[in-house]
Amino acid sequence: MVGRLAPEAPTPHLRTLRYFSRTGFRASHQLQTGVRRGGFFVWLRRIMSFVHCHAPAAQPAAADWRLVVQGDRLLARPAPTTEIVLPDGAALAEWNANASAELHLGILNDRACWLHAVASAETAAPAGWEWHDTRALIPLLTAAQFQAVSCARMLHVWQNRHRFCGSCGTPTVDVAEERAKKCPRCGALFFPSASPAVIVAVTRGDRLLLAHNRNFRPGLFSLLAGFVDPGETLEQTIVREVREETGIEVGEPRYVTSQPWPFPNSLMLGFRATYRAGEIAVDGKEIEQADWFHRDALPDLPRPGTVARALVDAWCRGG
Ligand SMILES: [Zn+2]
Repeated sequence: MVGRLAPEAPTPHLRTLRYFSRTGFRASHQLQTGVRRGGFFVWLRRIMSFVHCHAPAAQPAAADWRLVVQGDRLLARPAPTTEIVLPDGAALAEWNANASAELHLGILNDRACWLHAVASAETAAPAGWEWHDTRALIPLLTAAQFQAVSCARMLHVWQNRHRFCGSCGTPTVDVAEERAKKCPRCGALFFPSASPAVIVAVTRGDRLLLAHNRNFRPGLFSLLAGFVDPGETLEQTIVREVREETGIEVGEPRYVTSQPWPFPNSLMLGFRATYRAGEIAVDGKEIEQADWFHRDALPDLPRPGTVARALVDAWCRGG
């Protein structure tokens, strides 16, 4: 199930443990401890997950997951309604797509998973499968699937953007020991990275600050968000972004949760903050409209599965 690394393993959890032990993955000890202490159900919860790992010796197998990425699209079963079915290698065996070399990502629900990047938007999906807008699939992806898709998209972007050294322009090469690219001329190293961005639920009594960004569809409102500037703390970013976009002063920023956001490579850090002063005055450039909303009269909100929606829902529940 995990390629040539463990073809003879007799049971799924032993396959997983052997895989981790051979790849030297640091969670191996935790996983084995969980199996011993908690038995099958603890093990089951643990395998319903995605774990990134660097395994340069791994070889793609037919039963391994394939995350087939083309631009902002992802290959999945047609018309998903309740759950997303992703292809494995066998499903793509007859597919004559001009894909780049497959990249090992990690373990998704006890099976190895690979990025299968397709360059051309003209490439037809294989029989029985369809291209879907990745953002539209988010509410239907499991947490583990979303993490795997995020990893695939972010590593794909990293690969594309670091084919050449940013210092001297020489073509880079992959580093065997870790997930990195290296310049053979000047020695510069390039690791995968995510751009930190904050998103904040600003409350004023029993009302929440929501804004309409000019890039949103009509009627959609969300929380304020922005990238962290060089030299800034997360708390400073929150105060600056809310001030710049709405003219509102906030205080008491409190971290709540985080989420990878692979469009193309952000890490969203979710906060709560409290109104301090000011009246709404939108910047008119990025933010076209903003207002305070009561939980009983909320506008059209971002999709479930996003950190924005999770923060709003938590506030609605009184959390
Ligand atoms: Zn260089």
